[in-house]
Amino acid sequence: MDFDLPETALAVREGVAAVAAKYDHAYWSRCEEEHRFPAEAWRDLADGGWIGLTVPEEFGGGGAGMLELAVACETLAASGGTAGTFLYILTPGFGAMTLARHGTRAQQEAILPGVVTGDVQFCLALTEPDAGSNALAITTAARVDGEELVIRGQKIWISGIENATWMIVVARTTSAADAVAAGSRTFGFTLALVDVAAARAAGTLSFTPIPKMGANTVTSSQVFLDDVRVPLTHVIGEVDHGFGVLWDVLNPERILAAAGGVGGAEAALAVASSYAREREVFGRPIGANQGLQFPLAQLKATTELARLMTYKAAWLFDHGRPCGNETNIAKLTAAQVAWESANQAFQTLGGMAYSKEWPVERLFRDARIGKNIPVAEELILAHIGTQMLGLPRSY
Ligand SMILES: Cc1cc2nc3c(=O)[nH]c(=O)nc-3n(C[C@H](O)[C@H](O)[C@H](O)COP(=O)(O)OP(=O)(O)OC[C@H]3O[C@@H](n4cnc5c(N)ncnc54)[C@H](O)[C@@H]3O)c2cc1C
Repeated sequence: MDFDLPETALAVREGVAAVAAKYDHAYWSRCEEEHRFPAEAWRDLADGGWIGLTVPEEFGGGGAGMLELAVACETLAASGGTAGTFLYILTPGFGAMTLARHGTRAQQEAILPGVVTGDVQFCLALTEPDAGSNALAITTAARVDGEELVIRGQKIWISGIENATWMIVVARTTSAADAVAAGSRTFGFTLALVDVAAARAAGTLSFTPIPKMGANTVTSSQVFLDDVRVPLTHVIGEVDHGFGVLWDVLNPERILAAAGGVGGAEAALAVASSYAREREVFGRPIGANQGLQFPLAQLKATTELARLMTYKAAWLFDHGRPCGNETNIAKLTAAQVAWESANQAFQTLGGMAYSKEWPVERLFRDARIGKNIPVAEELILAHIGTQMLGLPRSY
């Protein structure tokens, strides 16, 4: 076994850390406060080649894999830019990884160079008001009409649509009932690239941002698709056979969420440790008190474990091997340790944790949602219980 990161990943860690060093906690807190996209950080990351990392070299990208992307995402989050996890999930994850694996040559040529320059962004529209954990329950329908797909339905929580050039919409081209009748619950899914500006100009696409507790550097919106017309050439994969493609969208999303969780835990532990070294109460640094020190040390140990599993999941994905179990374990443990680290940092800072002068309240809010999205921890535990322990299903 070789536990050394490859040179490519080490170079990514160094390069992203150099960019991230220009954007401190105050920057990310300001963007969050102003509900503003971190455009300066995005531009710098793109200019450094850290957004187009996984775009094949022939389209101007870095030709790297999931492991390097995970390292980039983790490094940005560890610098304090926990909202950067969304940056990595939406465009390099949903967009570039998916098109690199499943896009047609024409789609790749038209879209991927723009990802490298940072001019093209993506979002993914899967979740619906009545279909979150149970993606099989989506009802957004797409019908083939000549050379076009016509999409109708409603989505919810779609992040980043306000900046997206392309939205990957997951729709049903065969109803759930007909799919079951045909013998497969996963038949009938189609993924399509919707040109956001064109659909909005045609009056067939609209969205309403949802006021939310954190992660306000991107909006998360209700999206209304009112007979959006998409050329069939914009389908990713084949009509009705999109479910396999969808797993290649969701596994990278979970690996990047895990990487962001590991980075978020590091960020919270760094703030907490720094405060605990300096802050004196009863004439000694509070970090000397084992009631504070040991929980932080325990979380550091768990963070290291979550990182190992995240890298393993990414490595398996890159090698085209099954990675569902490892991806789910990485996502579960990274989200938990991110949240517990933010919570422990909150405890460490005493009253100052509640002040917006310190980043802990933002790290705390960003970390909490990681336990619920992109897949809730109960669903991961159900996966581990049924797939790894052979226990009966609850659904
Ligand atoms: C900030 C934010 C950004 C998001 N961005 C996107 C995006 O860009 N694109 C997109 O498509 N979606 C997005 N989502 C949606 C997200 O993926 C869903 O919220 C998530 O999948 C959970 O679905 P749900 O909210 O419908 O919860 P539900 O499915 O309603 O589940 C509610 C609770 O019930 C539990 N539960 C359900 N079934 C079981 C069971 N059998 N056993 C035990 N527990 C169970 C769940 O674990 C969960 O705790 C986003 C959500 C948020 C909050």
